[in-house]
Amino acid sequence: MNRGVFEKYAFVGAGKGYAQRKRGENENENENEKGKGKGSCSAKRRRREEGGGLEAKLGKKPLRLILVGHNPSQHAWASGHYYSNPSNRMWKILRETGIAPEELVRGCEDDGSMQESCGVGFIDVGVGMPGTDSSQFTTKDMATASKNFYAHLSTHLERASESIGCLCGKCGSPKLVAFTGKKQFVELVNADRLRLNMKKVQTVPLGPQDSRLLPQDWPFGRTDADTRVWVLTSTSGASALTNSARIAPYADLSAELAKIPWPLPKDEVLRCHQAPPEKESPPPTTTSL
Ligand SMILES: [Zn+2]
Repeated sequence: MNRGVFEKYAFVGAGKGYAQRKRGENENENENEKGKGKGSCSAKRRRREEGGGLEAKLGKKPLRLILVGHNPSQHAWASGHYYSNPSNRMWKILRETGIAPEELVRGCEDDGSMQESCGVGFIDVGVGMPGTDSSQFTTKDMATASKNFYAHLSTHLERASESIGCLCGKCGSPKLVAFTGKKQFVELVNADRLRLNMKKVQTVPLGPQDSRLLPQDWPFGRTDADTRVWVLTSTSGASALTNSARIAPYADLSAELAKIPWPLPKDEVLRCHQAPPEKESPPPTTTSL
């Protein structure tokens, strides 16, 4: 009952919310088009022709890491590249910490080749919602956007699992998913908790997350062997943090990422083809205590 009411309200909110309040040059874009599934291709093409758009860049194979932003800035929306705004520190930090190896990645112009070159993909929760100030988005805007976000991730999972001959549908899960800011992760968690009539969380720690917080619609496997979820600091120019505080969680994540070989060894990733073990030995890439 509650869920129905919420969804209806969220749907109306999307139509009259941020999308129409702020989207000057993209006025014909309709949030509702995103939910139509099969029609979304032409809607996407139309958005591009109208001068903007930032698609999910996840490739077709299982990834080591997916970086999840809040929503594209106007700059990223116009350029078609993640975190392209010169005031955003993301690319400097990714290269400095080695998440984006400097010899392979120049900057945002390589966001579409990193899936192949180093197993890193990009997506925003608010896919298709440009705007520099994330506080302009209401929780309801984000709750609505999350449906499209999960749909993108599910499509990726399906495609990535298929690419390695997986039968269980989960082997294509990325090894790490890192939210590039607390805000979008907390919004997703709370959208879920609101539906379930649970108390909202105020904040989450930086670094690895408790998988019990993950929303019901989370498409990837929930164990550490499937996907570990992290939260990082925001690299937006608008976020007030010292450089060392901002970079620390990225450096920690980079250390985790370095333990995952690339390309991913198929034998390790494709677990559903292995005979169910009586007693499973720990995966060779994990360092023991
Ligand atoms: Zn499988």
